[in-house]
Amino acid sequence: MLQIKDLSFSYPSNTPVFAGLNLDLQKGERLAVMGPSGCGKSTLLSLIGGLLKPTSGSITNHFQKIAFVFQEPRLFPWLTVRENLETVLNSKADVGRIHEALEAVGLVDCEELFPEELSGGMKSRVSLARAMLYGGDLFLLDEPFAALDEALRRDLIGQLKVYLSQNEAAAIFVTHQKEDAEAFANRCFMLSPREKTESL
Ligand code: ADP
Ligand code: MG
Repeated sequence: MLQIKDLSFSYPSNTPVFAGLNLDLQKGERLAVMGPSGCGKSTLLSLIGGLLKPTSGSITNHFQKIAFVFQEPRLFPWLTVRENLETVLNSKADVGRIHEALEAVGLVDCEELFPEELSGGMKSRVSLARAMLYGGDLFLLDEPFAALDEALRRDLIGQLKVYLSQNEAAAIFVTHQKEDAEAFANRCFMLSPREKTESL
């Protein structure tokens, strides 16, 4: 479904982030991506999501619809939580689903709050609820639970796994927590930092 072959990528006037990266992902598979800060995990998700173009190599993506949870929750600051979620709905008739999605992330009482009234962890949960409402057959999740305590992370990982398997969706989940990777994924991909010598 997704095949990455010999992928290289550099930001303009910067050293390469990867060279010769190979990776594949099948329908319904849950992959964890780990690696030290700055090794290119977010860049890899942006390449897979089509927000960046490879410098060389190829990304063949047969998934139909991608839901992206960015590392920094990108909520509209002038809209309430409910209105932020409404932005991904096709019809107002779906509004009952907003309540369900907020229930899944444990934020039912927050519908009328604005993003600035939420903690970092709450914002990331709204972001996740928005991605679940949007739906898709591939979820790109960039450290969605980084700001949450362990009990909540465990609970959300459980909810997310149920959601993904009910919807036969695949996911790439970037995390720093080995326990989260083990709890979430079928497979783990370790992204190594580029050696200085390779970028010369
Ligand atoms: P990670 O998510 O693993 O922490 P990133 O993908 O954010 O890593 O970054 C990988 C490398 O690319 C880092 O060296 C970072 O400084 C650099 N980088 C990230 N975004 C940009 C950008 N927009 N322009 C230039 N360099 C960038
Ligand atoms: Mg990152």
